[in-house]
Amino acid sequence: MRYDFHSHTHYSDGVLSPEQLVVRAEKMGLDLLAISDHDSISGIEQARAYVKSNNFKLKLVDAIELSAQSDFGEIHIVGLNIDINSTHLLSLIAEQQDKRWQRARAFETKFQKINIDGVLSELETNCKQVVTRSHIARALVSLGLVKDNNQAFKKYIGKKGRVKVATDWIPMEQAINAIQTAGGLAILAHPTRYPMSVRKLGYLIEEFKIANGDAIELAYPSITPDKRGWLEVQRNKNDLLASGGSDFHYPNLKWSDLGRFPAIDKNIPHVLDRIKNRLQ
Ligand code: AMP
Ligand code: MN
Ligand code: MN
Ligand code: MN
Repeated sequence: MRYDFHSHTHYSDGVLSPEQLVVRAEKMGLDLLAISDHDSISGIEQARAYVKSNNFKLKLVDAIELSAQSDFGEIHIVGLNIDINSTHLLSLIAEQQDKRWQRARAFETKFQKINIDGVLSELETNCKQVVTRSHIARALVSLGLVKDNNQAFKKYIGKKGRVKVATDWIPMEQAINAIQTAGGLAILAHPTRYPMSVRKLGYLIEEFKIANGDAIELAYPSITPDKRGWLEVQRNKNDLLASGGSDFHYPNLKWSDLGRFPAIDKNIPHVLDRIKNRLQ
């Protein structure tokens, strides 16, 4: 079964519309796709309607990627196979989206202090719904301050950048609970991408399990075999399931196209086993 359990549309920081995304997934020969926008479920129904009216073989697994706070810093949690009508989840989403716009305004104030004007108005023009640092990066590119998103993160808004705004994301436990209350599986996204030491990452995975997390992503683009091996040891030790996804944001990144990520060994307990019989 070909699946991709992590992808984005233009409702958060992806570039494709839900329709364009499912066309691409169908062309890639995927059987299952999870659209997991940052703090948004808005692309899902639109994508499903398009899949249906075009008789695609593709099935959608409803999902989201929540930003949350752990003891070791900010993390991302994918909620897989969620009920997108869960009132609990919907109110949390509204809260997160609000926080994101507050953060955008705080960024504007800080940019103005270093004589950079017009970021917020770029965001208001170009942001469809959820405002992310990717949008801020694009704004800095179009203001001519940097040549691409990477440079924007490096110079301004990344961990070591000049402009910092702290956000009090919901605690990890609350994010996991909201996902599970909506009937979904809570998956720690791209563990090795967080800026923390291996030792801390080990603790984070333990805490994620203690907080009732279900799974960790074991396969995603650019993860090295060494790191994958290490993650598998942690997964096994903490009795978590495995998941995988491309974290697709936009075409033209050859190394991270939709559906492209290392295969997970068949013997490893996988989130697929838990959702297979729940797919219509
Ligand atoms: P946010 O959740 O608003 O803080 O935005 C985080 C998003 O920014 C991630 O989901 C990535 O898509 C993107 N991102 C993070 N770091 C980088 C980077 N160094 N270069 C380009 N994009 C990045
Ligand atoms: Mn993103
Ligand atoms: Mn992420
Ligand atoms: Mn993502």
